Amino acid sequence: MSHQNPVFIPGPTNMPEALRKACDIPTVDHRSAAFGRMIRPALAGVRKVLGMGASGDVALIPGTGTGGWETALTNTLSPGDKVLAARFGMFSQRWIEMCRRFGLDVQVIETPWGEGMPTAAVEAALRADTGHKIRAVLATHNETATGVFSDIAGVRRAMDAAGHPAMLFVDGVSSIASMPFEMDAWGVDVAVAGSQKGFMLPTGLAIVGISDKARGMMEHATLPRSYFDLRDMLASNANGSFPYTPPVGLIAGLAASVAMLEDEGLEAVYARHARIAEGVRRAIAGWGLRPCAARPEFYSNTVTAIVVPAGCNGTDLVRLAAEKYGVAFGVGLGEVAGKVFRIGHLGMLSDVLMLSGIATAEMCMADLGWPVRLGSGVAAAQEFYRGNTGLAARAAA
Ligand SMILES: *Cc1c(COP(=O)(O)O)cnc(C)c1O
Repeated sequence: MSHQNPVFIPGPTNMPEALRKACDIPTVDHRSAAFGRMIRPALAGVRKVLGMGASGDVALIPGTGTGGWETALTNTLSPGDKVLAARFGMFSQRWIEMCRRFGLDVQVIETPWGEGMPTAAVEAALRADTGHKIRAVLATHNETATGVFSDIAGVRRAMDAAGHPAMLFVDGVSSIASMPFEMDAWGVDVAVAGSQKGFMLPTGLAIVGISDKARGMMEHATLPRSYFDLRDMLASNANGSFPYTPPVGLIAGLAASVAMLEDEGLEAVYARHARIAEGVRRAIAGWGLRPCAARPEFYSNTVTAIVVPAGCNGTDLVRLAAEKYGVAFGVGLGEVAGKVFRIGHLGMLSDVLMLSGIATAEMCMADLGWPVRLGSGVAAAQEFYRGNTGLAARAAA
């Protein structure tokens, strides 16, 4: 792998030089006032990215997105509790498996890989649950395995239409900070993100938003928890401290990351992701291929899984790209292993960087003898970016 090339995997993402430097700080005594000055802006900035107003809390937990899932479950639920989830990719599947390991009773809505949260089926399942046994609905905002986006506002509408009091937990690991997220407006009770995707940082922080309702559940929830107990975390954070030794470099990096996102402007960040993603989709059409996402409503602006031509294997392309060109793409996972390859397009990317990724994928396809004409995808993306460059739009504004 060349260290001069950007990665095109959907996390960990490319790290801006400024954020790498922001993480590189001397030792800080985490019991000093200096640490409080570091964590407070990080927490406040994350609140804005999550779309939180005055209520609710944010926790920064040393760990990864998977630890964020565990935090969500163990702080709010008890053994045997029922939860409702849909399975439509590797990440939604893993969260379901975690629920089962914790002895939760998971009602799974089997959904084709390539589609997103089936809101009508969610509403029907909630309506059928007249005794209100379902404690939480688990929603994967952006299924990274298939490049599928789900409408969380729609899930909330389905829950409200059913008049069901369940909590709403959202895995936003590959969407938050890259696509709009509205914790308050969507009535999300726990939102899970990670430092290494939209926040463009090294791996190592689970970033979790918690509603007041979810916080209230912590006193009653009896699933075993210790390290991930949010009561300790929130009590310490209130004094600008931490319940154990915090990764101060990552927290300093997060403060810089949220400042960088705010400086670009969240709307501009989301628009940039939408534009870059559309260029990738134009390229795919230029190749005569199609995304795994079944319909435009499911198109993700952070990752695209591309269905490979019949008789081809997506894993071959990923291997060749790494070995020959020093470029990382994502392999297909689970049910779509070999059938797709993935282009991650979130975090620190521009139109120009994206074109290099599209061109590399195209070279690999030609090398492998896939029925794709060199230049076809690049030209389609070029035409789109030429007419829609973010910098030109900004200069004109
Ligand atoms: C990356 C990812 C995860 C897992 O996060 P880790 O940081 O690898 O534990 C969970 N959900 C989604 C949607 C992801 O993209």
